[in-house]
Amino acid sequence: MSSTAINPLHFLHDQLEELEAKGQHSRLRVLEGEQKPVAHFDGREVINLSSNNYLGLTTHKALRRAAIEAIRTHGVGAGAVRTIAGTMDLHMALEEQIAKFKGTEAAVVFQSGFTANAGTVAAILGKDDLILSDELNHASIIDGCRLSRAGIRVFKHRDVADCERLCKETENWPGRKLLITDGVFSMEGDIAPLPALCGLAEKYNCIMMVDDAHASGVLGRNGRGTVDHLGCHGWVHIQVGTLSKAIGAMGGYVCGSRELVDYLYHRARPFLFSTGHPPSVVATCQAAFRLLDSPEGERLIKKLWSNTKLFQRRLKKLGFSTGTSETPITPIHVGEAAKAFEFSRRLYETGVYIPAVGFPTVPEGKARLRAIVTATHKRADLEKACETIANTGRELGLV
Ligand code: PMP
Repeated sequence: MSSTAINPLHFLHDQLEELEAKGQHSRLRVLEGEQKPVAHFDGREVINLSSNNYLGLTTHKALRRAAIEAIRTHGVGAGAVRTIAGTMDLHMALEEQIAKFKGTEAAVVFQSGFTANAGTVAAILGKDDLILSDELNHASIIDGCRLSRAGIRVFKHRDVADCERLCKETENWPGRKLLITDGVFSMEGDIAPLPALCGLAEKYNCIMMVDDAHASGVLGRNGRGTVDHLGCHGWVHIQVGTLSKAIGAMGGYVCGSRELVDYLYHRARPFLFSTGHPPSVVATCQAAFRLLDSPEGERLIKKLWSNTKLFQRRLKKLGFSTGTSETPITPIHVGEAAKAFEFSRRLYETGVYIPAVGFPTVPEGKARLRAIVTATHKRADLEKACETIANTGRELGLV
């Protein structure tokens, strides 16, 4: 490139400077060593309230053992996309195990929760169809809706009356209709009004789809998710989950009828065009589901909830707003993005890591810290974290 050539990517520099000026530019924090409740990020030991490692399974002995054994017996990679030569016996066994766990006929594993959502919505709907979607649904749902080219109508967050208004308006829509919601919302930590939404889906003849990324391993019997927790078995046609949060590894899955899964094997583009999981990851997930259905799994889930209650009770007593959270996802509302990022920075420097989230992850003016409690935090960690949050919050005039 000659020295006089104009760099066509120069706009990136301007955009990054704008983020910096708004106090919203953040550097990637680098985790040194394991994902644990007290961890080392960028050389500093912190109480880690930032991961989705709800049950502490990222470092569990049984999961490590399963991964190592699978490498020994199956190697390190699948070597091809699932539809050519990359479907291993382990993939099929995991899919069966997940379907059994969720109480559905079948399941298909995707490379991530993101591709499970986006790939499924885009595969089952087309331009003549319609999607009714909660306004706070995850980005992967939004991208799937856009990719499908279907019409999209957004209802107010968890607002059943607003959803019914849209259902009525579109009652005679000639194409297929999908009603889609997160089970647990990733930025608020609140739970979808699933029974009422399922009722609407049935009344107005919609396909019902739930993304239970943050509910699997957390809510319902042994972590079976919101569909189980809220008694909606048989009402939800498509259940999505992730293998990257409570399960502790990586991937996503879709559960439903055998025909749904067979159709996705043929039409879901991430499944068709991207290589499947390496054996170690599949075996890790199998071990995680075995653990969920054991007394140890039950103990971990119970601890997750008692830790969550302790942490949220303390924060509220200190005067912080945790919004509408009903799960371990704990927003600490700040408002202004620059202040939220400053709050997070000061906490990190005093030994507590809770990331800030601002626009575009949450709407302008609704910036917050987003803390996630896990089963493996010790009571003393949570008490110390609350004390530090209180001191730093007072310095910033937040409480
Ligand atoms: N759905 C929701 C609600 C999520 O929060 C996430 C992760 N941020 C995903 C889907 C995507 O999951 P994964 O990280 O496995 O791609």
